[in-house]
Amino acid sequence: MKLIDVKNPVLKKGVHYLTWDYMTRENNNHKGMDMIGKNKATDDIIAIENGKVYDTGYTNKAGYYVELIHDNNLITRYLHMKKNSIKVKKDEYVTKGQVLGRMGSTGESTGAHLHFAVFTLKRKPQDPLPYLQGKLNFNSDYFRDFVKGIQDAIGAKVDGIPGSETLNKTITISAKVNRKHKAVKFIQSYLFNIGYTEIGDSDGIAGPKFTSAIKHYQKDNGCVVDGVITKKNKTWKKLLKLI
Ligand SMILES: [Zn+2]
Repeated sequence: MKLIDVKNPVLKKGVHYLTWDYMTRENNNHKGMDMIGKNKATDDIIAIENGKVYDTGYTNKAGYYVELIHDNNLITRYLHMKKNSIKVKKDEYVTKGQVLGRMGSTGESTGAHLHFAVFTLKRKPQDPLPYLQGKLNFNSDYFRDFVKGIQDAIGAKVDGIPGSETLNKTITISAKVNRKHKAVKFIQSYLFNIGYTEIGDSDGIAGPKFTSAIKHYQKDNGCVVDGVITKKNKTWKKLLKLI
């Protein structure tokens, strides 16, 4: 069955075929949803929402797996990944849509698929569907996620609360300077979430879409409109809500 109305995808191509549902009548111990991708093929597995890598590793049952923890303390689990495909490390901050690894068939699995699950910190399973469909959310505070991601990327104290220490460590970012800096993806994700959707995917590269979205943001916020994020032109101060 093809899942419809998926607003928060976990597969990069955005097409999800359900092969085994959460807690079915036949198996009330299936604590997640099994799915395959577009044309019923494998796909890259992406983060459903901004978060932090809670755990990653291998078990005989889960195979290669990644767990993310989100702002509201729910955990998402991505199991049976392909060997050597995991692209994230424990304690790393990830943004919504970031590739975590590749669908595989490691662990207790009979064919390539993603087992996607949502758990509380106390390991109580939750139905993943409303999260995939965006009826329930992991984060309500995009700003705090953004600040934490930036703080991590620039080597400031990561507390989600911007101040002069954070501002002092900010760097110039533009299509010419630091265009592939770790901070870029957090800026992309934040601006996308607050409505500057022209910025596109959070691919971590400050290209033409990035420049035009920054200009748009600068115009809306009374900054010098130059597509460059610096302390000088006040764009960092605005982004961090320090003015
Ligand atoms: Zn499963």
